[in-house]
Amino acid sequence: MNEAKLMATEQWPYEVNYGKENEISADVLVLGGGVAGCHAAISAAKTGAKVAIVDKGPVIRSGSGGAGVDHWHCALKNPCCTITMDDMLDFFKAHPGNFTSEYGNGITFTILCQESYEALLDMEGMGIKFRDEEDEFVGADFRDDKTKIMFAYDYESKITIRVRQGAVIKPALHKELKRLGVAIYDRIMVTSLLTKGGIQGERVIGATGLNTRTGEFYIFKAKASILAMAQPKGIWVFSTELIGSNMSHDDPNCVGDGHAMAWHAGAAFTNMEGSMPSSGTFRYPAYGTGNSGNTWYACTIVDANGKEVPWVDKDGRVLKSVSERYRPAKGQKFHIHNPPPGTPPEYAGPLLIPDLPERIKKGEFVQPFYADLPSMPEHERRAIFGLMVGNEGKTRIPIYEVYTQAGFDPDKDLLQSNVLPPDRCGTGSPWNSIGPPQWRETMFVSGGGVVFDWDLRTTLEGLYAAGNQLACGGNHAGAACTGRYAGRKASEYALEVEEQVIERTQVDREKDRIYAPVKRKNGIGWKEFQAGICRIMQDYCGEYKDAETLQMGMKWLNSIRESEGEKVIAKNPHDLVRTLECYTRLTVGKMIINASLARKASHRSLDFKRLDYPETNPPEWEKFLTIRTDKGECKVGELPYNYWLLPPYAPTYKENYEKHCGL
Ligand SMILES: Cc1cc2nc3c(=O)[nH]c(=O)nc-3n(C[C@H](O)[C@H](O)[C@H](O)COP(=O)(O)OP(=O)(O)OC[C@H]3O[C@@H](n4cnc5c(N)ncnc54)[C@H](O)[C@@H]3O)c2cc1C
Repeated sequence: MNEAKLMATEQWPYEVNYGKENEISADVLVLGGGVAGCHAAISAAKTGAKVAIVDKGPVIRSGSGGAGVDHWHCALKNPCCTITMDDMLDFFKAHPGNFTSEYGNGITFTILCQESYEALLDMEGMGIKFRDEEDEFVGADFRDDKTKIMFAYDYESKITIRVRQGAVIKPALHKELKRLGVAIYDRIMVTSLLTKGGIQGERVIGATGLNTRTGEFYIFKAKASILAMAQPKGIWVFSTELIGSNMSHDDPNCVGDGHAMAWHAGAAFTNMEGSMPSSGTFRYPAYGTGNSGNTWYACTIVDANGKEVPWVDKDGRVLKSVSERYRPAKGQKFHIHNPPPGTPPEYAGPLLIPDLPERIKKGEFVQPFYADLPSMPEHERRAIFGLMVGNEGKTRIPIYEVYTQAGFDPDKDLLQSNVLPPDRCGTGSPWNSIGPPQWRETMFVSGGGVVFDWDLRTTLEGLYAAGNQLACGGNHAGAACTGRYAGRKASEYALEVEEQVIERTQVDREKDRIYAPVKRKNGIGWKEFQAGICRIMQDYCGEYKDAETLQMGMKWLNSIRESEGEKVIAKNPHDLVRTLECYTRLTVGKMIINASLARKASHRSLDFKRLDYPETNPPEWEKFLTIRTDKGECKVGELPYNYWLLPPYAPTYKENYEKHCGL
């Protein structure tokens, strides 16, 4: 290790000890300390288990929720909500084939609806003031005066809650972890899972890690482990120039390590063939330009001449007042704001006129467009630029504080939207920039992930999962709920089983793998390697796919692994972490190509287009395809779309939840 140590000293502020071993033992090991991981660790610790949580960043702020949350989904059990679990299940059933949204899996959907409000109350117990306790919004349409809860999007059904102190939610979780005595391991990149006897497909009995500052090695022994490292990112597009807010919408530490390590351990995955268009890194900071979606819902939009763009309901009826944008249309029990294409009309919320692109082409509206905050009712204006932009992830400092300090005044100023070709202009959701067709990314929060059961257990014994690492993932509230649930289940299991002896050869193999780049003297840097991997994914696994091209992509990924992959050098622990992330992305790329080859049909919600199988959503392909690796071979399987209600499970959501929830 000495030579490597020498190389590591170049301008590196921390003492480097590559290979030095640290051994930790826990009942429940939580891998990833984002939203899901923190809730999992807290709930496991509350059952009396000895818990350790490991994160690549600092748990106090890490993860996509680390910079904030402005709205809390599906808080059905809040005292003002008019929607029942059965109403939500009707909505869920109206969505068959919607594989990728947070409404894509019956198990996580049920857990979200059952526990969302409780999870928010947990946060209140940890000091997060989500209500309008300061009476800032008295008289607002969206405020309930008795409970002081403030709602978003649909003011009648009152399902979604605005979170007044969302920007500091992670520090509150961190404090609670400490209070409960959870052992926190910051800045440790988990690199692999350890299995019984070191055998793929066997019970998971721990994990290995690398300190991102010192390069030291960690061996975590655990009776049960929980995957909470979110979903892969940066698989198709890589830029060495654009950093900061733009580098990735999600936390840039989330690259798919959890997927790669579970894959190598033999866990099954689904939906890995799904992806969506991407702006690459060439976008404006999220919510930093004028728009009308999500955080900015339902801001009035005007064109360059000040002409207002009308809002319409599901039937195309023009809405006359701002207030109607926040209410279900006639005949609807509730609405989904900014409904994605395919949302059944019974649930589709209002949109800006859908034929806006044609009207721009005809000259009826002139770009650029602007978010017209000054024309919004005062409470709505302050809710958007204040309550929401002030607490949404990644907007508090770069948008809210920087714009305000620069003199932006929502009472007087309009904020310009992106200028885009007419057919790219938003018809409801933000004016997202989209790059060329070969630029893709995994689905936002709800992409492919591990297969799981009603215990949130993966297909491997001893391995549970939560948050966006689950297939169909979810959102902040979903991560909190599945985290709590997985924490309980993992703890229940851990308290019944014995700790296993770690297979030393598995540890040694992993040490050889991860330290190889620091032992090389000459070679290429991780950036070249990463750029090459992304180029392969763009060229051979872009928007339109066919078998031959995908197979060529697989060949090139294998080739780059054997050639450039053996030449990458790392001069310090930072380089080493980035290099290991390249190997992760390469593995994830192969998983995506394997899954893409397996689905021999096009699929709408997976945004999956096979040129050689152009028929979209043929009934025989309305199923989850699963993939797993077995001694280097990809095994393809399938699961019916409603596997969660089929034997061995009970036929209803309620029975399954009550039997498994562990409460
Ligand atoms: C800008 C933005 C705004 C959002 N706003 C909202 C909102 O208002 N409402 C809402 O419902 N949802 C929102 N979301 C989505 C929400 O933040 C995510 O759904 C949620 O964070 C998912 O939780 P998670 O724990 O699965 O992932 P994360 O919170 O991202 O946590 C994953 C953790 O895994 C760690 N990790 C990754 N790899 C490793 C490794 N190898 N070793 C150790 N640790 C590792 C990361 O450091 C990270 O801390 C937003 C997301 C973004 C990006």
